[in-house]
Amino acid sequence: MVEAKAKILTAEQVKENLFKVKEKIAHAAERVGRDPSEILLVGATKSVDVERIRAAIEAGLEHIGENYAQEAWAKYQQIGNVVTWHFIGHLQTNKAKLVVKFCKFVQSLDRLALAEELNKRAEQVGRVIDCLIEVNIGGEETKSGVNPDEVEQLVLRASQLANIRIVGLMAMPPYFPEPEQVRPYFRKMRHFFERLKAFDLPNVEMRYLSMGMSHDFEVAIEEGANMVRIGTAIFGPRQPKER
Ligand SMILES: *Cc1c(COP(=O)(O)O)cnc(C)c1O
Repeated sequence: MVEAKAKILTAEQVKENLFKVKEKIAHAAERVGRDPSEILLVGATKSVDVERIRAAIEAGLEHIGENYAQEAWAKYQQIGNVVTWHFIGHLQTNKAKLVVKFCKFVQSLDRLALAEELNKRAEQVGRVIDCLIEVNIGGEETKSGVNPDEVEQLVLRASQLANIRIVGLMAMPPYFPEPEQVRPYFRKMRHFFERLKAFDLPNVEMRYLSMGMSHDFEVAIEEGANMVRIGTAIFGPRQPKER
C-alpha cells in the first residue's frame, strides 16, 4: 500500500497552531472556572524535526515530550536545555540510563522494574527524576500502563526509591471519534488522582494529571487535567515511520 506523505508545516504554521491550541486550552479552563495558567502544555514531538520544534520554542513552548530514547537524545543534543524534556513513550529498561541524562520527567512509568532502574541510573548521575505513573485506564491489551487496580501498589513501592519522585498520573484512554465519549475515562482518572493525593508518602507528591491529546484535550481539561500532551494539533500530521 502506498501511503501519501503528509505535508510538512512551515515554521509559521506551527507557531499559529500553537497559539490556537493555547487559546483553546484557556477557553476550556475558563469554562470550568479554572485558571488557564495552571495547565501545562507538553508538545508531543515524535517524528517532528528540530526546525519545527525550534519554531514552537520560539513561539513560547516550554515543555516537549518524546517517545523514543534515541530520537529524543539526538534532538536534545541540538536543542539542549532551553526546554524541559519529558519522556512519554514506552520506555525499555535498558534505555533508562540514557533518558535520565536529559529528561526531567518520565511520564510512562508502568512497572516496578523500570522504577528501580530509573532510580539506580538517576542516582548514578546525581539526579531525581519526576515520574508520572501511566495508567491503562481503558484496560486495553494493546496499550502500556499499569492496570487501575495496581496503581496504588506501584506508588507504594516507588515511594521507597529516593531518586525518583512520583509527581502524578498519565493516561492515554481508548480512542473514540467523538471526544465526549472519552469523558468517562478522564473522570475515572480524576478520581484516582484525588484518592492518591490524600496519601501521605515519602517521595510522592501528586501534582500532575497528564491526559488529553490533540483531539480530546478540551474535554480532558474540563475533567481536571493540568498537563496535556499535544502533537498533531501543533505540528501537523506525522510522517509515516520509515523503518
Ligand atoms: C503522540 C502522543 C501524544 C500526542 O498525540 P496527538 O494526537 O498527536 O496530539 C500524546 N501522548 C503520547 C503518549 C503520545 O505518544
